[in-house]
Amino acid sequence: MTAAIAADGLRKRYGEIRAVDGVSLEVHSGEFFGVLGPNGAGKTTTLEILEGLRQPDEGTVEVLGQRPWPRNAALLPRIGVQLQASAFFERLTAREQIVTFGSLYGVSGSRAAQMLERVGLTEFAETRAEKLSGGQAQRLSIACALAHDPELVFLDEPTTGLDPQARRNLWDLLREINAEGRTVVLTTHYLDEAEILCDRVAVMDHGRILKTDPPATLVRELDAPTRLTVESGLLGAERARELLAGGEGGTAVPDAEVRDDGISLTIATRTPAPVLALLAEQDALRGLEVRGATLEDVFLQLTGREYRA
Ligand code: ATP
Repeated sequence: MTAAIAADGLRKRYGEIRAVDGVSLEVHSGEFFGVLGPNGAGKTTTLEILEGLRQPDEGTVEVLGQRPWPRNAALLPRIGVQLQASAFFERLTAREQIVTFGSLYGVSGSRAAQMLERVGLTEFAETRAEKLSGGQAQRLSIACALAHDPELVFLDEPTTGLDPQARRNLWDLLREINAEGRTVVLTTHYLDEAEILCDRVAVMDHGRILKTDPPATLVRELDAPTRLTVESGLLGAERARELLAGGEGGTAVPDAEVRDDGISLTIATRTPAPVLALLAEQDALRGLEVRGATLEDVFLQLTGREYRA
């Protein structure tokens, strides 16, 4: 596998704040790579260093085999940087925004129509950027980043502030961009987004990367219990404990932990099969939900803190 990005020992301080505190990472060519962390973790600063927008105090970076800093003109046509929606040119329509960005790279104006279609904004071609909804503005900023057909795309929290439907639509678009063979580097503070989109995720906190792996690996390595939840009142917690201790009519499941908060009865266990069978026997399956560990549990284990975006 070739590396699209290789960063080693990056550090960046702002006065007393160590925004990036020894970050090393490698992004493979064609990969969908995520940097996940709460607000202030250092994601944006890391991205800006990779993009060549910020000079690190220490460390080295190679992007597509080249140094991004000092500003590297050979690299610019090969990378796309998604702008924050607020960074559009004033009073230009969606089409004009793309034409203007494209012209900076010598791209023909006729590509704008293609890009608008690509991101599903054809009918808003003549709408001014400031009149677009949050989701539409994010789509336009992605169209601008792709106007010159870059092979590597950086996206900084592209779905922040969007409603659930707009987020899902944008996820589809991001998947397509990656499926076209482009390497995508995305920062996000949404755990579900990282889990759904990324081939690999770097979990970041306080300027450091704590772990980098595919989301499924991060979760699996936790060896966390599965939580089986059913409606409260179908089977009492005491009776459930009795049955799971191997009492009359039950099956011993030594690691099972039972909780009832008056709404749901939850049983946590690493051997869910006999617990499920037992709930079925007791006719207590109404509202059943089975939940494994998530990246939230991974963050908790890595930092000792609950995840708060
Ligand atoms: P967010 O999700 O809120 O954007 P982030 O993970 O992207 O957070 P950064 O924006 O990189 O984190 O910020 C990391 C730390 O550095 C924060 O404590 C932030 O306040 C600080 N910081 C970021 N940019 C600057 C700056 N230009 N000057 C001073 N401090 C900064």
